[in-house]
Amino acid sequence: MKIVVCVKQVPEGNVRLDPETNNLCREGVGAVINPYDLHALEEAVRLKEEHSCTVTVISMGPPQAEDVLRESLARGADHGYLICDRAFAGSDTLATTYTLSRAIEKIGGADLILCGKLAIDGDTAQVGPELASWLGIPHVAAVRKVVLTAADRKFTVERMMDDGYEEVEVEYPALFTVVREINKPRFSSLKGKMRAKKADIPVLTSKDIEADDRYVGLRGSPTWVSGVFAPEQPDSRGRRIEGTAEEQASDLAEILSPLI
Ligand code: FAD
Repeated sequence: MKIVVCVKQVPEGNVRLDPETNNLCREGVGAVINPYDLHALEEAVRLKEEHSCTVTVISMGPPQAEDVLRESLARGADHGYLICDRAFAGSDTLATTYTLSRAIEKIGGADLILCGKLAIDGDTAQVGPELASWLGIPHVAAVRKVVLTAADRKFTVERMMDDGYEEVEVEYPALFTVVREINKPRFSSLKGKMRAKKADIPVLTSKDIEADDRYVGLRGSPTWVSGVFAPEQPDSRGRRIEGTAEEQASDLAEILSPLI
């Protein structure tokens, strides 16, 4: 079974926005694997240990995103590919997922694709479902448990709901986005780190994945950031209403009426 894990490099700590360009300020900020993706990777490595699987990690990003691929190899992945090209600059989630889908097809497809539930910087949670849609495969979001029955080519998964969980059976190929509750990611071993250091990480460009220019980068992005602002902080000082019960009720009604 071939498992592909999508990992994103995200800024470490709080994300700041440049008010002029509306872009993330990445200068001087450390970068790490998106925390949810560590859980996706751990689940892939766990399945590899129980069944006969290969685990491939892919990341679309700038050249320095290679670091998260090496870390993934140190944590048990077998292969890594960096999807990197200036043509991908300005990609929204639709263009990003088109590009990821082309890359997955180019490296031979996958029986299972694992993503995090969301990325802590972009925070849309759109990549998993959109990627499944480009590939024409089923997806289940917010998965907290995965059981593989290889003989029947199917997974039984538990997906988290607001008031409990739902059990879903799905034949593969399929895509799951995972939540933190699914497992506890292991640390990388010394042997893993040594292997990761020497590993070859091929870079896939737009040409390599035979992408259609109309669907990548800015041209392939039907959404745009028209403005960015910090939400107004609510006034938390409180206000004391005094007077008789009638006066208090009347004051309260006046305060609340614009909100109704
Ligand atoms: P989510 O959907 O929240 O992530 C869910 C999961 O998908 C992750 O846990 C991970 O498993 C997987 N995943 C997400 N992103 C990747 C990835 N890149 N590689 C592998 N797996 C991934 N970003 C830029 O860096 N530069 C830009 O110039 C840029 N321009 C943009 C322009 C527009 C108009 C918009 C709307 C967005 C732009 N972005 C840009 C943001 C970029 O589109 C998103 O970061 C990206 O699509 C992922 O979305 P997300 O962070 O919400 O991921």
